[in-house]
Amino acid sequence: MLAKEILNKLNSEVINSGNCFHCGLCEGLTDGLFKMKQTIKGPIPTLLRDANEGDQEDLKKIYLACPGRSIPYSFLQKKISSKQKSRFIGNYNNLYIASAIDESIRIKGSSGGVIRLMLLNLIKNKEVDYVIILDQDLKNPLINKPIITNSIRKINNVTQSVYETEPLLKIIKKLKKKKKYCLVALPEQIAAVRILKLYYKKQFQNIKFLIGLYSGTNMYQGALKFYLKKNGVSKLNQIKKLDWRYGEWPGSLRIKTSKKEFLIKKFYYNYLIPLYISKNCLLTPDLSSELSDISVGDAWSPKLEKSGYGYSLVISRSLYFDNFIKKLLAKKKISIKKVSHNFAVGLHAHMIDFKKVGSFIRINLLNNFNFPRYDYNLHGITNKRIFIEKIILIIINLSSSNLGRIIFRIMPESFLGFIFEKTRSIWKYFSKSIKREGLKKVRFSSIENLRVKELKLL
Ligand SMILES: Cc1cc2nc3c(=O)[nH]c(=O)nc-3n(C[C@H](O)[C@H](O)[C@H](O)COP(=O)(O)OP(=O)(O)OC[C@H]3O[C@@H](n4cnc5c(N)ncnc54)[C@H](O)[C@@H]3O)c2cc1C
Ligand code: SF4
Repeated sequence: MLAKEILNKLNSEVINSGNCFHCGLCEGLTDGLFKMKQTIKGPIPTLLRDANEGDQEDLKKIYLACPGRSIPYSFLQKKISSKQKSRFIGNYNNLYIASAIDESIRIKGSSGGVIRLMLLNLIKNKEVDYVIILDQDLKNPLINKPIITNSIRKINNVTQSVYETEPLLKIIKKLKKKKKYCLVALPEQIAAVRILKLYYKKQFQNIKFLIGLYSGTNMYQGALKFYLKKNGVSKLNQIKKLDWRYGEWPGSLRIKTSKKEFLIKKFYYNYLIPLYISKNCLLTPDLSSELSDISVGDAWSPKLEKSGYGYSLVISRSLYFDNFIKKLLAKKKISIKKVSHNFAVGLHAHMIDFKKVGSFIRINLLNNFNFPRYDYNLHGITNKRIFIEKIILIIINLSSSNLGRIIFRIMPESFLGFIFEKTRSIWKYFSKSIKREGLKKVRFSSIENLRVKELKLL
């Protein structure tokens, strides 16, 4: 295909039809063809000039790896040599509950501080030259940007989870051929880079390791601004410090302005999710970065949550990271407890259902054939489960409408937080049996769709 043809296809299948997953590859892989621009629907690639033949190879790679075109998970999983199979959390070798032992690392972490611990050790042991991470702009904490660094100080103080769509992969253009990198990214970004690593081995072998985050829901950039305006902060340059998960696990959103400090519990600010939820997280079935080398999420067990200490669920999918974790253990840098597959799935049963079953129903309910289609079919979805999904979609549509946002703006903060925390518990309680039973009954079958055929040809 010629450059212009590929560009037209990318535009019609993904960008113009609202299926961009905001990964940033469009900017990261081309030479000044695209720039990721923030819009009310997240960062979207904007064309800066006409495509020419010099762009052809870059566009081919983007078209192949673009997560907005869907990721053929079943097919790609077979190319990764993890020992155990799982449709729910992706194939894996070992599952752990883990925390960094060094208090100063753990307390800064979003959950157990495991990611910053691994990054610090990868750099100190010279396993990689640099890490690629998302970090806050120190001068303007509302801005996040990808950085390439080997600074121990920067890694130690890297931002906690940023619940905003950020085009991390735009930084890929800055990588050097002869250096080794470790990338920390969200599921769809990990999947895109995995495709590049599998099909353009030589060019992307410098991205040595992929550390994937769990990612259930994410929000467009307006969420924080909405919160600040609601709380009387109209000048955004007044923000001096911002932490998404401040203090003991699960942490609070802390915003410091020159005059005031806002502290809102994690489960309280969840009320922002339906108002600003990003479309890509409604459509992807990947919660746990299934194509990573190692994935990290919160260990959401009621017992652990009460302890407040900060625990991560860690999925090692590669022999390298099995050994790496063992070495950290031997050096008394990490505390770990091996857990079973059922236990790990149980920690995120609701979100796994939201992704694996929910995204599938949502794609069908929205009934738009432009939406991504994954390379598996689901069997055994009950009518009750479809009904629940319809309610979720109605809530999201109402809350994210202009009227919905106005109503949320008028309602008192403490009331909203309280209602959302309670609704979360009640909703989880009532939908638990339908969802858990549903997860047990649901069956997956792989299908060979266009995406698989395309990859098979390479
Ligand atoms: C948008 C989002 C949604 C999430 N949803 C869930 C969920 O549903 N369930 C769950 O169990 N866990 C979820 N997580 C993961 C969880 O919040 C923690 O990041 C994870 O447990 C790792 O904790 P840690 O203490 O080891 O990480 P830390 O040591 O605190 O390291 C955090 C790392 O994450 C990177 N990072 C932060 N935000 C982003 C971002 N937006 N994009 C790319 N990199 C980023 C930082 O650069 C840093 O390297 C989510 C994270 C994000 C960013
Ligand atoms: S998902 Fe990534 S590759 Fe696809 S259009 Fe968006 S930025 Fe480009």
